[in-house]
Amino acid sequence: MSERNLLMIPGPIEFEPSVLRALGEKTRSHLDPVFMKAYGRSLKRLREVFMAPNAQPFVVAGSGTLAMEMAVANLIQPGDQALVVNSGYFSDRLGVMLERHGAAVTHLRADPGALPSADEVEAALAGGKFKVMTITHVDTSTAVLAPVKELAAAARKHDVLVVVDGVCSVGGEAFEMEAWGVDVAFTASQKALGAPPGLAVLLAGPRALAAWKARTRPVASMYLDFAEWLPIHEAYEAQKPAYFATPPVNLIMALDVSLGHLVEEGMPARVQRHVNVATSMRAAWEALGLVPLPKSAAVSAHTLSALYYPGQVDAAFVKAVAAEGVVLAGGLHPQLKAKYFRVGHMGAVTKSDLVTTVSAIERGLKACGHPVELGRGVAALFSLSPAGERVGVRG
Ligand code: PMP
Repeated sequence: MSERNLLMIPGPIEFEPSVLRALGEKTRSHLDPVFMKAYGRSLKRLREVFMAPNAQPFVVAGSGTLAMEMAVANLIQPGDQALVVNSGYFSDRLGVMLERHGAAVTHLRADPGALPSADEVEAALAGGKFKVMTITHVDTSTAVLAPVKELAAAARKHDVLVVVDGVCSVGGEAFEMEAWGVDVAFTASQKALGAPPGLAVLLAGPRALAAWKARTRPVASMYLDFAEWLPIHEAYEAQKPAYFATPPVNLIMALDVSLGHLVEEGMPARVQRHVNVATSMRAAWEALGLVPLPKSAAVSAHTLSALYYPGQVDAAFVKAVAAEGVVLAGGLHPQLKAKYFRVGHMGAVTKSDLVTTVSAIERGLKACGHPVELGRGVAALFSLSPAGERVGVRG
């Protein structure tokens, strides 16, 4: 089977060849000056990407789930109260983790595709004694985008620490960690940061670090404890050798190259490009009669689309599209799993990736017996301005 397919799932994504070349280079010592420079530079670049000049970045071997647990392990002590603004599968996962670390968890839930209202969040904050509130910026199971800025402002009023799961958002969606009053935000390498899976990335702001310092019990997990990692990250930023646990050298070299691309593109331009991509894709979905899972455009992510299978089409559709050379993801939300599919469109995605994807989806629908006019979705991609001239969607 050919390796020349197009990976359009919500992470891992297609990576820039220069990022993959860095991954494939000779592995250096973790104390090699070239590596120390790249690691230190990555940390600085992460502050730019997260827009958090005063936050402490942590980059450790692990996936996004480890980053989630790093946030929880360092902030939570048994008996603390936590509020989860729940928008789906990954919000549930944070809730489970918070409980495992001894927190009393209150979930504010909504129907799949929606979010709890600002009034509900405000009432919960006013009525509780929460130490932290968690927000899943983009819940990858539903493609729902949470209004982090507004939610964080509400939490700040009540002096509640704000933790943002940015695994499917940072590097793609608008996110200003410091200006929005977010205390901890995390992601993983394989999504909009544009590097292969294997790195957990977390930034902790001054209030979060103060809360960690004020703990009365040590962090139960040694691997996740800020205390182990802080001196290491400070040393690498100062280009000094340090060791706690062997860093994944090649992955960090690759991350550094990718973060260089993000910083070069600039976050406002990058966010706008993701908006343009999502707008084009939404036009294509509409033309094909595909209904998005998020209940309104206001809560729709720009990093991926989640779409109900139309008519008699079922999960076999994802295989039919794979046969056309494009890899999509099935559903994930436990309530709706079998009813929808997901298309990732973040990071290095190009205009021709969009054309290829929408075209393969049209052919997949046809293969599943769904009536479709081939080319209709592709034409719609460029309907909002002259073909090929859509601002910022790279060719
Ligand atoms: N949170 C969100 C929003 C995610 O999308 C994911 C991964 N899809 C995770 C957490 C967990 O990340 P990982 O799979 O890298 O452990």
